[in-house]
Amino acid sequence: MTMNGPVVLKFGGAALSEPARVVERVRAARGEGAGVVVVASARAGITDLLAEVLARPGDEPLRRRALARLESSHRGLPEQGTTHLARTARLLGRIERDYPADRPLGDRLLSQGERLSATWLAGRLRHAGIPAVAVEADHLGLMTDNSYGASSILLGPSQRNVRRGLQPILRSGRVPVVTGFFGRSQEGRVAVLGRGGSDYSATAIGAALRARRVELVKRDVAIFTADPKRVPDARPIRWLTYEEAEELAQFGARVLHPLSIEPARHAGVQIVVRSLGRGGTTTTIGPANGHRPIRAITSRSPLKLFHLRVAAGGERPGVAAEVTERLAAAGVNLVTLFTSASMLSVVVEPAASASTLRALAPMTGEPGAGRLERPRPVALVAAIGRGVTGDVLRRAHRILRGAEGVVASPRSISMVIPLHRERDVVRGLHRTLVRRRG
Ligand code: ASP
Ligand code: MG
Repeated sequence: MTMNGPVVLKFGGAALSEPARVVERVRAARGEGAGVVVVASARAGITDLLAEVLARPGDEPLRRRALARLESSHRGLPEQGTTHLARTARLLGRIERDYPADRPLGDRLLSQGERLSATWLAGRLRHAGIPAVAVEADHLGLMTDNSYGASSILLGPSQRNVRRGLQPILRSGRVPVVTGFFGRSQEGRVAVLGRGGSDYSATAIGAALRARRVELVKRDVAIFTADPKRVPDARPIRWLTYEEAEELAQFGARVLHPLSIEPARHAGVQIVVRSLGRGGTTTTIGPANGHRPIRAITSRSPLKLFHLRVAAGGERPGVAAEVTERLAAAGVNLVTLFTSASMLSVVVEPAASASTLRALAPMTGEPGAGRLERPRPVALVAAIGRGVTGDVLRRAHRILRGAEGVVASPRSISMVIPLHRERDVVRGLHRTLVRRRG
């Protein structure tokens, strides 16, 4: 089914470092005649920088450096952008005093990266003769829940607002350049969608407008059967079903935001992941169309594994809930959790190690309570595709030796392995499960 709506083009931070190619893509899509909506991420490194400021709210030199960097990476800002810079300077000034007590203030600061890049990009497009206007997603009414730091889009209320806000711009022949990554919470504050969230903004906007497709344009990341840097004979994947893409996003190292598939599936909108480099490789994500089920190997690293030995058993009711609640309250993003009779294990990003230790410490120490082991460096390697678990058990069980934990489902099997074995495991799985299958 093809839709009559516009083409939605989302540009990642790295892609924006090649403005000439971005302009070329927008122009080509406009040539299709159905209108174009652009969704912009922050420029490369900017969200990391703002997140660093939030991690060290007392660091005044860091704040000054951040502001200088924001200025230098958005040269040639139109007037509206200058206002955003001044606002960012004021926000930075408030961080030391009001953050983290005022959690949404952090989201507001993070959102400035996208506000700056959207106005910057709209300026570049106008300069190239394309009538573009910057649109801020919170003003547009992209509505989210109140889970600051990693909120979810409320598709129903957003749909109405997105249509009402963008359709008049499209009808007048202009290109709205919408900020990715954040929306407006139920309390009317800025709420970000979690790292890599601009993909999710783009698919939600595409669903609301019944887009003919949503293109996620990356600089040189494409969807392969494995990371080509680790596995030289990995191949690009041309077609994925929504379900396969969801599995990949769940385990893939940030190629797609995990929540970004659902809005597209719901509205039946196709997603195209396009790489500006890599010869313009594309992967199309859509409904099942009879193509052969895919196989892919993903890996996420480096990660930290914490084992919590629990006297009364890792599977005791309530233990896992207590762990996940404590981690959520500490703002720790849990990569995976598994339990055994005596142990509960959690995997987190290295940057969250200290908060994980602090959050779980109260569960240890007292007689009869748990004991927390020193965290170990690990990778989370997953094999994805229907029937893959059976194949691993039949043909690649030796690879499981030395795994710290394994979680299997009908469409994927993921394993936590010591970091130093990552490359061998990824290659071994690719050889046995992907290549040999032909
Ligand atoms: N700028 C945000 C991030 O880096 C959102 C995105 O890039 O999609 O996480
Ligand atoms: Mg980014």
